[in-house]
Amino acid sequence: MNEHGDRAGVRELRSLAESAFTEANDLDALEAARVRFLGRKGELTGLLRSIGELPPEERPAFGDLVNDLKLEIQHSYEKRKAVLSAEIVEEDYCAGDPTLPGRRTIHGGLHVLHKVLREIKSIFFGMGYTLTEGPDVELDYYNFEALNFPLDHPSRDLQDTFYINRDILLRTQTSPVQVRYMEKHKPPLRIIVPGRVYRNETPDPSHASEFLQMEGLFVDKNVSLADLRNDVTFFARSFFGPDAKVRFRPHFFPFTEPSAEVDMTCFACRGSGCPICGRTGWLEIMGAGMVHPHVFRYAGYDPDAYTGFAFGMGIDRIAMLKYGIDDIRRLLGNDLRFLRQFWTETGGEAIE
Ligand SMILES: [Zn+2]
Repeated sequence: MNEHGDRAGVRELRSLAESAFTEANDLDALEAARVRFLGRKGELTGLLRSIGELPPEERPAFGDLVNDLKLEIQHSYEKRKAVLSAEIVEEDYCAGDPTLPGRRTIHGGLHVLHKVLREIKSIFFGMGYTLTEGPDVELDYYNFEALNFPLDHPSRDLQDTFYINRDILLRTQTSPVQVRYMEKHKPPLRIIVPGRVYRNETPDPSHASEFLQMEGLFVDKNVSLADLRNDVTFFARSFFGPDAKVRFRPHFFPFTEPSAEVDMTCFACRGSGCPICGRTGWLEIMGAGMVHPHVFRYAGYDPDAYTGFAFGMGIDRIAMLKYGIDDIRRLLGNDLRFLRQFWTETGGEAIE
């Protein structure tokens, strides 16, 4: 048994270490003290070795004691180190020339997608919608089956969907969140669901393998197509300008009936025809329709008691329309020249 091999030795070692750390006036002296107490050949290791000289029944309690001691010594070392390091920082600062101009800080700004999404959200919040979200990695059940997609529907094809296994996939739309939300909430409900969606597409100027979508859902008693038209028109006028007109073209989606694609008068030419709208005077802004009774049944709602509408829009597409962006791939690229164009508009400052 060496001189530290008892409780008194433990106490002694603790106070020795503490005063050695306190007396260390720079990082070198502190390091020397650390090696003396905590190093591989240090005092603490010696103490631990002495455990073999104790009667077996006393070893566990002594082991605990030494471990606690080690933590305490380590803690006082870290504390002293923090103090000494901070002093160094302060010294460097004081040694600097106070007449030098400050360093220019670099400001970023909102990404154009965030700017657009933020604006869209605030318009729908104003209409009483609340925000909800769901998982990007989704079950086939929510992405397709509960949305009334037939088994042989083309978008279930491996060529369009990133499957993780037979039952799990990267969601191809934000619509699965409709079903998840309805399972947990009773009507009336009015939600928007922004989120990233994934398609197994070959990227080109108008297709990307991931993009942002925003879903809207309104369910209550007696909700009609006129209500859908009303909310969509309000959105288009708030976002694109007060004279925007909206038209519905019949379309097919498995989860709505009737379904429509929604066009808005081209904001660039106000309907007279220009390159942005392909000389038609109209721009497609979203898909929409009345919630299919089958979807209500999957979610546990009585389709005889409730009706509702749903719509979905591509945030990337809306951003491209509003800002005249010609290639969707720019939105996920990190080209600073492109990103800077929108920073000044959002209150950020361009990087020099
Ligand atoms: Zn136009």
